[in-house]
Amino acid sequence: MATIQIGDLVIGGRKKLMIAGPCSIEGRDQLLDIAREVKAQGAQMLRGGAYKPRTSPHSFQGLGPQGLFHLKEASEETGLLTVTEVMEPEELDLICKYADVLQVGARNMFNYPLLKRIGRTDKPVLLKRSFMATVEEFLLASEYILKEGNKRVMLCERGIRTFDQITRNTLDLASVPILKKMSSLPVIVDPSHGTGRSDILIPMTLAALVAGADGIMIEVHPNPKKALSDGLQTLDFPHFRELMAEYRSLCKYIEDQESRRTGQSFSGAAS
Ligand code: PEP
Ligand code: MN
Repeated sequence: MATIQIGDLVIGGRKKLMIAGPCSIEGRDQLLDIAREVKAQGAQMLRGGAYKPRTSPHSFQGLGPQGLFHLKEASEETGLLTVTEVMEPEELDLICKYADVLQVGARNMFNYPLLKRIGRTDKPVLLKRSFMATVEEFLLASEYILKEGNKRVMLCERGIRTFDQITRNTLDLASVPILKKMSSLPVIVDPSHGTGRSDILIPMTLAALVAGADGIMIEVHPNPKKALSDGLQTLDFPHFRELMAEYRSLCKYIEDQESRRTGQSFSGAAS
């Protein structure tokens, strides 16, 4: 299993990664408020879209460069690493200047020119599975990035489209151990997009950890009803705290089990 190092953070090792933040960066105060909260709860990485791939062209499209400036400020204040989506090669230089990790969204997983271009940067990548990609296609997409020389790729399971509309997508947790068998890349699970429902994020987060995920990505907003995107799958602060309490205790259990198995003690707390 290869690990990815970003500064002091090791991804894919024994310690799990929590990525949390709003779907979209809506403003300076909103992002700082969320960054402080998710940091206090133990997240290591802040998410937030500045360029948003919205299904409707009439929906909020993101703040663009201004959003990136807010992301950088939030990172400098809290010490959180940041991840944000790249939709077009033209945005890449600016995003590389302001964010730590490049996200390729589900809609762009099949955008091979973009993957190749990102593969020529030195930034870690969070590659999301397309809602219509097989596991094999997902892995081949990651190879487009790897082949260009960028080896720091994380795979993100975020649900696929099925006949059932009771969830926004069907979170394919079977893909987690399969991806880990078929590749050496860290696997992150995004239950927010994977279900579209804030009411089942706790059990799906725990299930993802049990399935072997190296990290989790959760959407958080102080007032999900007012969020400019994806409010239905977003946790408010009290519910995020609840999720984090369960997350931390399961992480600790998994880490203890792992230490017992390997006979090594692990001093890093699961906070
Ligand atoms: C997101 O994470 O903001 C996003 C748009 O997700 P996806 O590409 O998985 O739909
Ligand atoms: Mn979203």
